[in-house]
Amino acid sequence: MTEASYRIEGATGPWEVVIGLEVHAQITSNAKLFSGAATAFGAEPNSQVSLVDAAMPGMLPVPNRECIRQAVRTGMALGSQINRWSRFDRKNYFYADLPQGYQISQLYHPLVGEGTMLIEPEGAAPKTVGIERIHVEQDAGKLMHDQHPTRSYVDLNRSGVALMEIVSRPDMRSPAEAGAYLRKLRAILRYVGSCDGNMEQGSMRADVNVSVRKPGDPFGTRTETKNVNSIRFVMAAIEGEARRQVDVLEAGGKIVQETRLYDPDRNETRSMRSKEDAHDYRYFPDPDLLPLELDDAFLAECEASLPELPDAKVKRYADVLGISPGNIAVIMADVEDVRYFEALLAETARRQGKSEAEVARAASNWLVSDLFGGLNRIGRSVSDSPISPAQGAELLGLVADGTLSGTLSKQVFEIMLETGDDPAEIVEKRGLKQTSDTGAIEAVIAEILAKNPGQLEQYRGGKQALFGFFVGQTMKAMGGKANPSVVNELLRKALDG
Ligand code: ADP
Ligand code: MG
Repeated sequence: MTEASYRIEGATGPWEVVIGLEVHAQITSNAKLFSGAATAFGAEPNSQVSLVDAAMPGMLPVPNRECIRQAVRTGMALGSQINRWSRFDRKNYFYADLPQGYQISQLYHPLVGEGTMLIEPEGAAPKTVGIERIHVEQDAGKLMHDQHPTRSYVDLNRSGVALMEIVSRPDMRSPAEAGAYLRKLRAILRYVGSCDGNMEQGSMRADVNVSVRKPGDPFGTRTETKNVNSIRFVMAAIEGEARRQVDVLEAGGKIVQETRLYDPDRNETRSMRSKEDAHDYRYFPDPDLLPLELDDAFLAECEASLPELPDAKVKRYADVLGISPGNIAVIMADVEDVRYFEALLAETARRQGKSEAEVARAASNWLVSDLFGGLNRIGRSVSDSPISPAQGAELLGLVADGTLSGTLSKQVFEIMLETGDDPAEIVEKRGLKQTSDTGAIEAVIAEILAKNPGQLEQYRGGKQALFGFFVGQTMKAMGGKANPSVVNELLRKALDG
């Protein structure tokens, strides 16, 4: 497809959509940003709240080194500028889920500055999206309105949990690009290990900024739809909000800068409040915290701890390992799949005494067609696969050394999927070994020729296509256990010789 531009058609012609995303990603860490309280998901309400998180008078925040480290590693993975000097500010507002009366965030001097990300939207050209900044901040608590008929409760477990806010430039132009951006960002966070990317549990959520304009015009006024918690909803919210804005503008109205809420049940956005200007929060440097200064050793450790990132991996899979683009796309879809594949590949190469490049095609084909297909059928994923990477490699080894034919390996695979047993054990117990015993195969062939005189005559009369019939009959009579190349050779001899 060419530079397929997404447009909203209106009565006055096509409109272009402009999108910028602010993603809140919960930093993977056992403790909160400024306290030692735990962060596990789904804990009993208010069971993970320290005196700091409850904002008891006189409590002092202490930055959690691990949270800073994870945000720096994330910035590095996005090729961003890392600011050696950054500072925490107080964002002041009153709300029942915020006992401090302010959120500790970073407005003026964020930890991470500008970076970029390459996105590959489905059916459109790849494109680079600018990332403006990543800052570190505290999450708020949660109000619970559904626990009591006349009261609201508050759960402070999330209060003080570390978030990264990853702010994109207004560089996206369609719901598909926004979807591709979020998928890529989530993948990178998972590779880096700085956020689990679990949108259903709220560990990654997006504020969606949308405006519309006539192509070529300056940016229009935007609205911000808060806390959208799935990629599908983000895409739907953009589509609906852009349509609404076009309708307002074409009816002669104006877009007001405001905060909106997305309602997935009705698939529409609703006004929540008009957007306060930043200075309404009376931001000022938090007097309880010293500025953060990162030293060389800390930065070097962050850099050294980064894994191979998705773009580099795709390139290596294609150029070095020679894996097909289709298989790469499937394997790369989930970081757990990649981890399984790499364990399988290493073990397969080791068993067969070959390089990874030599076994990569067979291993990736088996993974994508057999294992993923099988897991799909039994409703499981690689993380709870009954077949481990080592067992998969053992099965591939039995095919490579001729113990199992293609047909037999499929039978063994089905049994592995069901029982979780080792393939060699299954072969042994059920006698599924492929045979190259020429005597046994020759005897079967003789029987088959005797039973099918008509086909034999036709074949010898020139109907070459019947060769396949004899192969099939022989394999069937051998219970699928005959080595196919031996069968071929012996049949040729018997038929032609
Ligand atoms: P604020 O500080 O008011 O939140 P920012 O300049 O930080 O505003 O921008 C917030 C988000 O809005 C960014 O992701 C940015 O890309 C996006 N954005 C800014 N202007 C527009 C616009 N005209 N249309 C769509 N998105 C925009
Ligand atoms: Mg903002």
